[in-house]
Amino acid sequence: MDDLYFIGITWQEIVNWFLVQPIYAQVLVLIGVFAVLTLAVILVYYILKGVGYLVYYILKGVYYLLKGIGLLFYKIFEGLYYAISGKPKPEKNQVVVIQQVPVQQASPQVRQVKQEEEPIVPIQKTVQIVQPEVTFCNECGNKFTDSMLQTLSDRGVAFCIHCGNKKTQDYQMSIES
Ligand SMILES: [Zn+2]
Repeated sequence: MDDLYFIGITWQEIVNWFLVQPIYAQVLVLIGVFAVLTLAVILVYYILKGVGYLVYYILKGVYYLLKGIGLLFYKIFEGLYYAISGKPKPEKNQVVVIQQVPVQQASPQVRQVKQEEEPIVPIQKTVQIVQPEVTFCNECGNKFTDSMLQTLSDRGVAFCIHCGNKKTQDYQMSIES
C-alpha cells in the first residue's frame, strides 16, 4: 500500500493520521469521504448520462442525415431509371384512379357521361344514311328509289315515281325520326 499516493502523501501516512484522530473526528472524516464519494458517483452518473444523450443524439442525427442522403440518392436513381428506360413513372395518384374506375362505372354520373357521348357514336350516322333507302311512300306504299332520295336531298322536294305524290324533306325527316 506504500506505493499508493494521494495528493503527494502516501496512503499509509493518511491511515496513520486517521488512526490518531479522536473518534468523532474519524466519524466526520468517514461521513465526509462518503459524501464526496456519493457526489463523485452522482457526478460521474450525470456526466455519463450527458455523454450518452450526446452520443444518442449524434447517432440519431447521423441516422437521419444518412436516411436523407439515401432517400435523395434513391430519388435521383429512380428519376434516372425512368428517364433512361422511358417507362412512365407510376404515381400513387394513378393507382388510386385505377382502383376507383370500377366503382365509378356503376355510378350514375358515368352513365350520364356515356349517354352524352352516344350521339357522337358513328353507328347512328350509318343508321341515318341507311334509313332513307328503306323509305316508303305513304300514298302508294312503294319503296323510294335512289334517284327520288337524291332529288329529295338535293332540292328538298321530290315526287313519287309510282303515284306522283309530292314528298318534301320534312316528310323524309319525319320518317327518319
Ligand atoms: Zn307513291
